[in-house]
Amino acid sequence: ALKIQNVEKSFGAIKVLKGINIEIEPGQFLILVGPSGCGKSTLLNMIAGLETVSKGDIVIGDRTVTHLDPKDRDIAMVFQSYALYPNMTVSQNISFGLDIAKMPKPEQKVVVDRVAKMLQIEPLLNRKPKALSGGQRQRVAMGRALARDPSIYLFDEPLSNLDAKLRVEMRSEIKELHQREKTTIVYVTHDQIEAMTLADVIAVMKDGEVQQFGTPQEIYDNPENQFIAGFMGSPS
Ligand code: ATP
Ligand code: MG
Repeated sequence: ALKIQNVEKSFGAIKVLKGINIEIEPGQFLILVGPSGCGKSTLLNMIAGLETVSKGDIVIGDRTVTHLDPKDRDIAMVFQSYALYPNMTVSQNISFGLDIAKMPKPEQKVVVDRVAKMLQIEPLLNRKPKALSGGQRQRVAMGRALARDPSIYLFDEPLSNLDAKLRVEMRSEIKELHQREKTTIVYVTHDQIEAMTLADVIAVMKDGEVQQFGTPQEIYDNPENQFIAGFMGSPS
């Protein structure tokens, strides 16, 4: 469902991604992990079409999307910094993509109510983003992605602003969503437990390269180097 083929990214003279190759099947849950600055968000933004690709190709389904507009890629993304529309209510933020897709209003309401219930933000639907906490905003941003039905979800640390209890709840919601809907997901996290519990496959990145790719168990049992062992908490 997703192929990242020899993808490179330079900002000016600095190469931040150095030939990334990743391939996942339809319905797989891919987690990208690695230290701050290794290029996770840059890679995700390139899949979304929010950053240009310096070299290589990105294929979603059977379409090469490398140079397509974000809106033509059939993706839904939740950013590291939740980008909500400040002048719209929570409800309008969630249904924004449905409105664009010209879904009838009564159907939109059904979707918004379902997503709001899942994310426990029902009492907030008529508020504007500025009247929400960070964690609440993050859940609204997630709700906006979940309201759509894309061929790929892209998540950039969607749980990082939530408190521990909510993070655990949301983690199981996401896992259930994935199992129920068989969605293809690319998910960036720093959190080793999130990676181990959610991923079908993990790509461990460092300095703009994929150092190891495999199932959580494979990587945990046979980390290729000390850095990966440390990150995955493998026994030494
Ligand atoms: P974090 O875990 O902190 O979110 P990350 O793995 O997501 O880190 P990126 O945001 O992808 O890292 O950044 C990778 C590198 O590219 C960093 O060194 C960053 O400073 C650099 N970078 C990102 N965006 C730009 C830009 N627009 N211009 C120049 N350099 C950039
Ligand atoms: Mg990032």
